[in-house]
Amino acid sequence: MTAPWNYPDFDDHEGVHLFRDAASGLTAVIAVHSTHLGPAAGGTRFWHYPDPADAITDALRLSRGMSFKNAMAGLPMGGGKGVVLADSARIKTPEMLAAFGRAIDSLGGRYVTAEDVGMTDADMVAIARETRHVSGLPVAAGHAGGDPGPTTAYGVYLGVKAAIRRGLGKDSAQGVHIAIQGVGSVGGGLARLLAADGAKLTITDADMARAIRMAAEIGAKHISPSEIMGIEADVLSPCALGAILTEESIVGLRVPIVAGGANNQLATQADADRLHARGILYAPDYVINAGGIINVALEYLGHGDRAEVEARVARIPERLEQIWAESAATGAPAATVADRMAMRLIGRG
Ligand code: NAD
Repeated sequence: MTAPWNYPDFDDHEGVHLFRDAASGLTAVIAVHSTHLGPAAGGTRFWHYPDPADAITDALRLSRGMSFKNAMAGLPMGGGKGVVLADSARIKTPEMLAAFGRAIDSLGGRYVTAEDVGMTDADMVAIARETRHVSGLPVAAGHAGGDPGPTTAYGVYLGVKAAIRRGLGKDSAQGVHIAIQGVGSVGGGLARLLAADGAKLTITDADMARAIRMAAEIGAKHISPSEIMGIEADVLSPCALGAILTEESIVGLRVPIVAGGANNQLATQADADRLHARGILYAPDYVINAGGIINVALEYLGHGDRAEVEARVARIPERLEQIWAESAATGAPAATVADRMAMRLIGRG
């Protein structure tokens, strides 16, 4: 077996923990990338990996991303990620969740979990029976926590407006043409907020019925998913998949700004350079989409009411401004500047 430190995505992770519970069938990985700023926080993914090595790669890559995201959001949290390996039928049992809760607890608070792909808030409740190092639990109105989608959407909305200010010199989204890829929890919330500001919206979704419904609700135009990357607009806002900014797609972009909520938008590091070379203003994804993690982190830290969440989300534009200013001053792409800032914040710069 390849040791975790021989994986290409290993980045001096503080710990890579492998768990197996024969009675429940749990197989899991918890990667703790950094606890420099606080407990390593990041959701748990429940996913079927034909090759288990891919689960370790995912945990390594995603936990590093969480270190960067949490640091740039100004949170007193490090970065970690859990991965529970599902069988091909993706069967998840209460016993498995309990065993995973005990696994988290055995780390004594170095890792704090929340929902990610394949995990629900009900799963977090089950895990919380075994450990207190869990967030993303249902909360009462007015408190931090709960579904992160709307808070993420609000942060992305503020970030898009900051990009419009910097890139187009406009103080409002009114009349600005914004194309949104994916109108689910984040993209749909963003679309509603921008529509209320009088933006001109073009939207798409792999689920065309969803796009058509949303377009009718907010008075937007809908187009097919294949058209969105080449649309001529003021802003492209990716709010669906990762890895959509590639060598091919960047050549075809007809927008001066890319700012959206999807995670891992750049297919490779070289795509940061390609966007920059084309003069496209880019909002680094893990900075603009931090609203959700701010929401669940404050829930975990126990000092969060909604007003505190909103105050912290309202600082996302400042962080973006800082990145763009440093990018302009140094000539380095915004994504590279963000990575460097994050590395400095976690004591690795
Ligand atoms: P979601 O599942 O609610 O919505 C995603 C939407 O994208 C769906 O409607 C889906 O049909 C659509 N879609 C998928 N493939 C598409 C394609 N090729 N073209 C167009 N549409 C497509 O998910 P979400 O919670 O809104 O998350 C969206 C993105 O934001 C993801 O990349 C996610 O990782 C990221 N993100 C979400 C949060 C959060 O709080 N929910 C936080 C940070 C980042």
